[in-house]
Order: sequence, then C-alpha cells, then structure tokens
Amino acid sequence: MDTRAQRPPLLEVKRNCELKAAVVKASSRLPLSGSRLKRGPDQMEDALEPARKRTRGLGTVTKVDTSRPKGPCLSTVSQTQAPTAAQKGPKKTGPRGCATVGSVLKNQKLAPSAPAQKPVTSTAPVVVGKRPGKRPAWDLKGQLCDLTEELKRYRERTQKLDQENQGLQEQLKAAQEQAATLGTERNTLEGELASVRTQAQQGQQELQTLHARVLELEGCLGTKESLIQELQREQLGLQEERKTLAARLEERETRLQASEAALSTSEAEVACLRQKTEAQVTLLAEQGDRLHGLEMERRRLHNQLQELKGNIRVFCRVRPVLTGEPAPSPGFLLFPHGPAGPSDPPTRLSLSRSDDRRATLTGAPAPTTRHDFSFDRVFPPGSRQEEVFEEISMLVQSALDGYPVCIFAYGQTGSGKTFTMEGGPGGDPQLEGLIPRAMRHLFSVAQEMGGQGWTYSFVASYVEIYNETVRDLLATGTRKGQGGECEIRRAGPGSEELTVTNARYVPVSCEREVEALLHLAHQNRAVARTAQNERSSRSHSVFQLQISGEHAARGLQCVAPLNLVDLAGSERLDPGLTLGPGERDRLRETQSINSSLSTLGLVIMALSNKESHVPYRNSKLTYLLQNSLGGSAKMLMFVNISPLEENASESLNSLRFASKVNQCVIGTAQANKK
Ligand code: ADP
Ligand code: MG
Repeated sequence: MDTRAQRPPLLEVKRNCELKAAVVKASSRLPLSGSRLKRGPDQMEDALEPARKRTRGLGTVTKVDTSRPKGPCLSTVSQTQAPTAAQKGPKKTGPRGCATVGSVLKNQKLAPSAPAQKPVTSTAPVVVGKRPGKRPAWDLKGQLCDLTEELKRYRERTQKLDQENQGLQEQLKAAQEQAATLGTERNTLEGELASVRTQAQQGQQELQTLHARVLELEGCLGTKESLIQELQREQLGLQEERKTLAARLEERETRLQASEAALSTSEAEVACLRQKTEAQVTLLAEQGDRLHGLEMERRRLHNQLQELKGNIRVFCRVRPVLTGEPAPSPGFLLFPHGPAGPSDPPTRLSLSRSDDRRATLTGAPAPTTRHDFSFDRVFPPGSRQEEVFEEISMLVQSALDGYPVCIFAYGQTGSGKTFTMEGGPGGDPQLEGLIPRAMRHLFSVAQEMGGQGWTYSFVASYVEIYNETVRDLLATGTRKGQGGECEIRRAGPGSEELTVTNARYVPVSCEREVEALLHLAHQNRAVARTAQNERSSRSHSVFQLQISGEHAARGLQCVAPLNLVDLAGSERLDPGLTLGPGERDRLRETQSINSSLSTLGLVIMALSNKESHVPYRNSKLTYLLQNSLGGSAKMLMFVNISPLEENASESLNSLRFASKVNQCVIGTAQANKK
C-alpha cells in the first residue's frame, strides 16, 4: 500500500491497465484449457473452433468479472447477464468472485444444456492438448483418472487464478483507494480551484478598482501636472519679481544708508534746533507775558481814552430828507465845522426857526431864533452807516474788554432811530445798522483775541418795553407774536445780574445767527403791529448781548453786557388835541414813554451827580439797564433828528434832552474832563 501510495496516480492507472490486460490474457487461456474438457457440446465447439472460442472465452471471463461488485471492466457486462450480476454483486467479495468462476465452470459441467448433450451422444469426444491416447470407452477408470487429473489441474489453475484474482482485487482495491485519494485530491484541488477562482474574481475586482483608481489618479496626476506647470510658471514669475525686489531692496538699502547718514546729521541739527526752540519757547513765554502786559495796558489806556472822551457820549444824527418830503428852508439846520477846519468832523449843530408868535404880535417879519448845540459828534444828513459805526467801534472793544456798554437811539418817531440801530430796508450791506456791524466787529475781535488765549462766548436776547410791560421779541412757536408778559428779575438772591423771565437767551457765535434773531424780532413786531397800531414806535426795543471772556491760562475772566436800545418815539402829544377814546390810549402810551425817557434822563443825572439814590426802579427800561449805566459803564446816546422844519419843535426838544445828557459826566474820567 505504501509503495502504491507513493507512486504517481498516472503510473498507477497505467499499471492497472497492464494488470487488466494480463487478466484478459489469462482469461483467454481458460477456454483453451476448458476446450480440453469433453463434457459438452460447448467444449466441443471450443475445441473445433479454437479462434472463436478464444473470443468467447474472453467474453466468459468478462462475464466472471462482471459478477464482481466493483470491477474495472463493469462496463463490458452484457445486458442479459447484468441483472444476475446486479443481484449477486453487492454482497460478493473478490475471493467469492473467484468462487463464482469456479461455480460457473461447475455448473457448466454439472448441468449442461440440452444442445450440449447431443454431441456427447452423437459424436466422439475430442482430445485436447497432450492427452495420453484415447482411452477406450470402457476404460472408465482411466477416464476418471484423466478427469480427476484434469480436475486437479483445473483446480490448480483455479487456485492460481484465484491468487491472480486476489492480486487483482488488491490492485483494484489499491486502485480504488488511489481513485478515492485522487477524488479527494481532486475535490481538494477543485476547492483550491474554486478558491483560486474566487481569489481571481476578487483579484479581477481589485484590478478593476485599481484600474479605476489608476484612471482617477491619472486624472489627478494630469491636474497636478498642469498645476505644477502653472506653479512653475508662477515660480519663474516670482523669481523674476524676487530679482527685481532684490535689486530694489539693494537700492533702498543704499538709500537707507544715505538716509541714515542724513538722519544722523538731521538729528544733530534737530538737537541744535531743539535747544534753539527751547530758548525761543522761553523767549515766547516772556514775550507772551509782555504781550499780556501790553494787552492789559492797552485795555487800561483804551478805557482811559474812553473815559477821557466821556463815559457818556452823545452823537447827533440828522436823517436826510426823504423823497416826497418838503425841503427845509436853507439855513434851517447848520453844521459848523470844528476848529481844525472842514476836515474836522462836525460836533455842533444850529437849528434856526422863526418865532411865528412874536411876528404876529409885533407885525414885523418873524424873527429867526438860532439854537446851537454841541455834542461829541454830529452826523449831518448823508452820513454813511459805516462812518457812524467807526465812531462807536471803540465802545464795542470796551465791551470785549469787560466794560458794560449801552447805546441808545433817542428821537421822535420817523427821525431814523431804527435805521441807525438796525439798518435800512432791503438788506443792503451799505445800509446795515449798528447792531449787525457791532456783532460782526465783536466776533472778529473775539477771534483775534483767541490768539492771545482769550475765549469768548455770546448770548443774545431781544425784548421790547411797551407801556411798562416787557415782551420777548425772540419768542417762537405758540408764544410768537403773542407777547406773553415777561418780568425783570435778579438772576439769584444777592445777585447783581438781571434776567428777563420767559425771554429767550440765545447763544450766538456768528453774524448769521444774529441776523436770524433780528429777522425773528422783525416778524414778532410785525405781528404786534397788526394787533396794535404802530406799537413798535411806541415801545423801547432792547437788544442785549452778554459777552463772556476767559483767559484760562492766566485765570482771567471778563463779563459785560452790550446793550443796543432803540427808544420809543420821544414826541409829545399835541396839547390842543381833543381827547377821544383812541387819543386817551395814545395819551397813556405817551405819558408812559415820556415817563420812562425822563426817568432815563434822571438816572443819568443822578449818576452824574453821584447821588446816593438813582431812580432805576422808576421805569422798566432803567431797571433793566441798571447794570449798564453808571460806574465804569460806557454810554452812548444817538439823538436822531428829522431834517424837516415841521418837526423843528420836536427836534429842539430832543436836542435839549440830549444836551442835558451830554453835560453829564459819569465815572473816573470826570476829574479829567473837568
Ligand atoms: P424811527 O425809527 O425813528 O421812527 P426810522 O428809522 O423808521 O425812524 O426812519 C424813518 C424813515 O426814514 C425810514 O423810511 C428810514 O428808511 C428813513 N431814514 C432814516 N434815517 C435815514 C438815513 N440816515 N438815511 C436814509 N434814510 C433814512
Ligand atoms: Mg423805529
């Protein structure tokens, strides 16, 4: 078994075939041996036809072989004998197969077929092979002996064949085992093959996946390659740029070195300049101190000059004859020039008027009476607004320096007070009055003084006093034009400062803001005018500007009000006029106006005479202006005169009042003036 197992399968198969051939050969010899039997017609026939017998013998042996359960020649079993073999086969073993051969032969001998008996009877037995002569028929003993011998030979032969058969069975078994082994191997190999196929399929799938991946990677590679190319181009560009930048850097470094050298030189210069600057700063501080000292000195001298000119000054202004007005007779008003000649600004005025009453009494031509007046300045008709303002600009400077200033316009209605204070109609810049001009001057000077460390702020208010009631001219909204009553009160207990309740105090910082306020005041007056006939001329308009200056560095402050007052018409009521209900009101108005104007005169007198009691409280006007009258306050009164002869009487009254005021001297300059 071991040796067979070690043999290669193919060699084993070949050997089996050889063995099979040997079996065939061995079987082919059986009939030859059998042919020697003289037991039946078959055997006889075999003897007579040796060639055919051999063929049949082969078939017989084949039949024997088919009786085996498992034999290599199973396929050659004839159909007629197959059922028998199938019935017996499974239970028979190899040795039994050999016994079967024997039994077949035995059956052939013991139960011959009918046709086989015929030759036995009819023909003589045929001697096969070497047979010691033909025994006579009677020699049954001899025949028996022959037959016994032959049987013995057959037995030996059968024995040999059994041995051969056993060998063949073993070979067959071995072959079967080998076949089983081969089957197992085949199964294993088939399993392996299936496994290999599975692996191959997996490999194929992997290959496909890898192929797809390869394609993807190839695509990716293409993209990367183009990217690399692009980057390479970019790199080239960058390299070029780097070269350029390197060149520029080199150039810059060279320049930097030059600059550094220049810088070190400059630093030395800066150090030198710093020293100089420090010296100059010190000098500047000294000069600043000096300038401040000079400014203080200027203020002092300016004030002294104003005081020398008089803390109360009176300017007379005569308006021109308007279109449609009768021209006055020549010499009605004369403006003699000053001692310095025609170039000297006039300070005197002569009013000549004929005394009609004396003429009527005597019957002679009416004598002319000349009234001479002298003022600080006289402005004849035709004087421009600009000239008028030049004279008072010094007072505006005083207000900035911290001195209260009060400018009045006094005169009968229509004499030009409003024209002087606010200006002419139509917004003509040439006709601008004192208020807008003073404001412009203030803002401009305040800005200049900012260079010297002064900071100014301005707050404006505008009220009118009618029949001893105060009304806000800057009222807006629902109060506009309604003239809600205002009261003059002290700003606080123990405070000198006065304030008008319900009145607007508007901070202003430029001319436009002041213009807007004047426009608003005009509107308020216009509304009032419709309600009460020509009330504007029957009331005092007081424009107040509170000026606050501060020199933070030196801790200096100056606060002063600038008052610009357009007084009510100074005309008196005609005594011969019959008093109707309207006239009574007019009389009350006039009395109120006259009272307040005479109070103003009395206050000025009292201040001039340094009386202990100054009747400020006698009128709302003087009460409101009390802080701007007297003391170091500067006062300027314009007396406005009509050029018309018909107004001569009122003009004289105004001039007389103004003269009285002009004679007053208030403040420290009094001694100097005297
Ligand atoms: P008042 O205010 O004293 O009643 P106004 O100022 O209203 O008088 O002047 C009366 C008229 O005279 C106005 O039409 C005004 O334009 C005109 N007027 C007054 N003064 C002058 C002047 N100096 N030059 C030209 N016109 C003047
Ligand atoms: Mg007026």
